[in-house]
Order: sequence, then structure tokens, then C-alpha cells
Amino acid sequence: MKQATKCIQAGYTPKNGESRMIPIVQSTTFKYDTSEDMGKLFDLEAEGYFYTRLQNPTNDYVANKICALEKGSAAMLTSSGQAANFYSIFNIANNGDHVICSSTIYGGTYNLFNVTMRKMGIDFTFLSPDCSMEELEAAFKPNTKCVFGETIANPALIVFDIEAWANKAHEHGVPLIVDNTFATPINCRPIEWGCDIVTHSTTKYMDGHDATVGGCIVDAGKFDWMKYADKFPGLTTPDDSYHGITYAEKFGKEGAFITKCTAQLMRDFGSIQAPMNAYLLNLGLESLHVRMPRHCENALKVAQYLESNDKVAWVNYPSLPSNKYYDRAKKYMPDGTCGVVSFGIKGGRQKAEAFMSNLKIAMIATHVADAHTCVLHPASSTHRQMNDEELIAGGVEPDLIRLSVGIEDIEDILFDLQQAFDNI
Ligand SMILES: *Cc1c(COP(=O)(O)O)cnc(C)c1O
Repeated sequence: MKQATKCIQAGYTPKNGESRMIPIVQSTTFKYDTSEDMGKLFDLEAEGYFYTRLQNPTNDYVANKICALEKGSAAMLTSSGQAANFYSIFNIANNGDHVICSSTIYGGTYNLFNVTMRKMGIDFTFLSPDCSMEELEAAFKPNTKCVFGETIANPALIVFDIEAWANKAHEHGVPLIVDNTFATPINCRPIEWGCDIVTHSTTKYMDGHDATVGGCIVDAGKFDWMKYADKFPGLTTPDDSYHGITYAEKFGKEGAFITKCTAQLMRDFGSIQAPMNAYLLNLGLESLHVRMPRHCENALKVAQYLESNDKVAWVNYPSLPSNKYYDRAKKYMPDGTCGVVSFGIKGGRQKAEAFMSNLKIAMIATHVADAHTCVLHPASSTHRQMNDEELIAGGVEPDLIRLSVGIEDIEDILFDLQQAFDNI
């Protein structure tokens, strides 16, 4: 199936007489005829559901659709993008381990890694995504367990060199994890470039309608855990909490990562997506392939308009030919990047705030990447826990305005921007 067809068809195929839409299995629990039947589930000897804190059929239909779109081998939904990124790393890195991470990542992820996961004893080295391969090479330590980056950094809009970082990670026997939230699998499939684990905040374009918070983890099924068995004991040695199962042996390259993540992390932390939310996410996914090109088309026009406006100090949009990342964007995302454009206004912070309060269609919202055009000043909101130095290292200028271009009529969006500029 092509991507557009997968958006509609993948993940769930009703049998004779069954509901066309995915059923919402709004049930905490599942019934079995014998204790032995249920025991097999607990031992991971049989497939099936027993408790919605770990797994639910509605979630799996939707996870399977995203898995097909990302061309992975297995996938799971989580309650949020934060939970997805946390699980993706904590599934393979523990107290005493080390992770290499692009410095230009989403502020919430940076905080999760740099503050909360450090408290759990995991060490992070943050490197510019534009660092040389020698610098990247030098960052590896014997206890490095994975490498992490974002396809298009939120909000810095820096395009990550997935193939180069994947090759380096593999030279050191560790997987590359890529947060593909902004590009979506319509515009980029990191697995095609060597990425091993893909994460998403489905809260953004995948849901696409400001309706529901969620996340997803997709495993490419290609990383050979057994080959580096010493590095990944959680996957390659018996799990006492599951009667001595060795995930990489029992479920192979294709299934080990997601099975362990479900059986251990979802069991213990319970960051499950509600089945009702998974249903809403599925509605969003059914039009993802129609919405993404429109987001990209509108955003390019907005970026071109801003570039020609003399009240604007600078514009950052990777699909603009003048952009530093244009060539890299064309390589990884030939059909377009995303709907998010960032820019600075001459006169700095004060003018930016005045401009924002003049907007009528573009709403001030923490959110980004959905059907409604919205606008945000990260330095005073999502990134306010960072000082100016950290902001700049994270690719976020203190005067940066993040404009998430929606799928309204482009003439109305441009008119709104123009009248807001006229009034400052
Ligand atoms: C929003 C976002 C997250 C966090 O996702 P939530 O669903 O808000 O928890 C992670 N990564 C990126 C790139 C994001 O844009």
C-alpha cells in the first residue's frame, strides 16, 4: 500500500459483519475461560489482552497503522509524546548509562533528559546537530546506549542528518532514536535512512485537530541486540519479572524492543493512551496525507511573504531555498517539511509581543502543528526554564516567534499577518 492508502486502510481490517470504524474497546479488563488461559498471557506465552494499563485493542489498531506508515516492525501508543521519548530511552538505558543527544530538541524533551532522567542516573551529552563527525565520534563512551535527535527540531527547525548520525551510532553498536513528530511519515520515514526507533508526539499533526494528547514508539526491527548483548542486558538476559524470558531471543529483532517496553515499562509506569483518544487519533490519521501537503504549501507561502516583509528581521523555514538546511531538507523530505515557520521581528521582544496580540486568526497557543494557525513566543512560554545561553545552544533565539501555519485559506492567513504588521 502507498502512504495515502495506509492512512485510511492500515492497522485494522474488519471481518465479515464487523464495524467499519475501529471499535473503541472501553474496558479495563478482559475475560478468560480458565486461569491457565490467563496465565499464558502473563507469561507472554500467548498473545492477548488482560488489562488496559498495558495494552488495549483500540490502541493496537492505531499503533499498527503508524507502524505501517513508518515502515517499522512493531509499535505502541503512549499517553503523550513525553512518555514515548522517556520510554524509548529508558527501555535501553539505565542508571549509570550514557546517551548522546542533539542539542536542538523540543524544550520538554530537553528538560525530561537533562533534569529528570539525570536524576535517574542517566548521563546525557548534548551536541549541535551540525557538529563534525569527529566531534560526534569523540562523544561516545563505553556506556553509551543510544543516540537521539529530531527530524525537524521544534522550534529551531533544524533538519537532522539522520543517515550520518545513524551510521555513527551503528559503528559504535548502538541504535539511533529519531523523534519524527514535525515531519510525520508522510514527509519523512527515518527508518529508510537507518534510524532504529522512531518516536512521535501524536498530539501534533497526526491528531491534527487540537483534540487529544498522545505519543507513539515504532521499532524498525533491524537492530541486532544479541550482537551487542553486553550493552543491552535488559533485552538479552532473562527478565526475572517475566519468568526468565529473554526478549531478544523470544521475540527477535522485530519484536523485542516493543514487547519489553510494553511488558515492563507500560506495566510499571502505566502511561497508556485512553482507547477513546486512540480512536480520535485514528480519525486524524485518516486525513494526514491530505493535510500535510496543504500545511507545507501554506507555510511556504507564509515564509516567502515574511522574507519579503521589511519589518521582519529573519525567517527560518527549511523549505525556503535561502535556508541553511534547504539541501538537507530536500534529501530527507523531497515533498515538503512541515507547517511551522519561525521568524524574528525588527525591534525584538516588545514588537514581537505587540504583533502577536494584533493577530486575529492566528491564536496565541502553546500548541503547534495542527489544522488551526497558531503562534507562540517560546522564550516566554515553552522554553522559559532555559536561560539565554541554553536557548541559543538549543537553536531558539530569544526573539523567535513560532508560527504554526494551519490549513485555512492562505489569503486569510496572509491578510491576518499583514494587518498585524500594519498595526505595530
Ligand atoms: C510536543 C512535542 C513533544 C512532546 O509531546 P507531548 O505529546 O506534548 O507530550 C515531543 N517532541 C516533539 C518534537 C514535540 O513537538
